[in-house]
Amino acid sequence: MTATRLLRTTARAALPALPVLAAAYAAPVLSTYGPLRNRVMPRLSGRGRPDHVALTFDDGPDRLSTPLFLRLLDERRVHATFFLLGNQAVRAPGLVREIAAAGHEIAVHGWLHRPLLLRGPRATYDDLARARDTVGDLTGCAPRLFRPPYGVMSTAVHLAARRLDLTPVLWTAWGEDWRARATPESVHRTVTGDLRGGGTVLLHDSDCTSAPGSWRATLGAVPRILDTCARRGLSVGPLREHAVDPL
Ligand SMILES: [Zn+2]
Repeated sequence: MTATRLLRTTARAALPALPVLAAAYAAPVLSTYGPLRNRVMPRLSGRGRPDHVALTFDDGPDRLSTPLFLRLLDERRVHATFFLLGNQAVRAPGLVREIAAAGHEIAVHGWLHRPLLLRGPRATYDDLARARDTVGDLTGCAPRLFRPPYGVMSTAVHLAARRLDLTPVLWTAWGEDWRARATPESVHRTVTGDLRGGGTVLLHDSDCTSAPGSWRATLGAVPRILDTCARRGLSVGPLREHAVDPL
């Protein structure tokens, strides 16, 4: 299932129950709708300082594709935030250390790439804790940021993240780079069409939940996105450099 189809599905599933839910339970619905979320929850959406764009990659690490992203970012002297999956990280522990050693920010995307809205509080907490502890052990530094699979938040996610001292961050612009028909041109056009200063860009350095080989379109789009940001006078970096106040 693609991320957009899943988002629509989860949004549909959440909406009929909304009138009878307590205010706290509005979170899954709000965080699912991008434009509304960006306005109502700027911090959760990754809104930062207006002269900066945060570059983020989800679903890695991947032995095949991630090293190519690291090489490209090194050539362009740009740092990014990598939201790693725990079950991917244990398969490539050296690569996790390499990402950190290159100066990138390490964050977590959960242990398994499953929508947390469908899981209970205990399973949600265990998933996040396992991912945080495993990635933290590999790098020697506890991750502080968390992005739920598909961007779907729930009350259980909010509570688990708070207990684990993880700050959830979503995105303001994505490249639809998970699609089989994505090209460097389409990813660049989709990202920059929605991109303003202070925005957070979501891309994928791995195809583990995307169309096979889709990361090639992402890799081709990154230099164009960086060029467009430079033309617009926007600096690009990780989330740790993004916010006026530290996230
Ligand atoms: Zn993901």
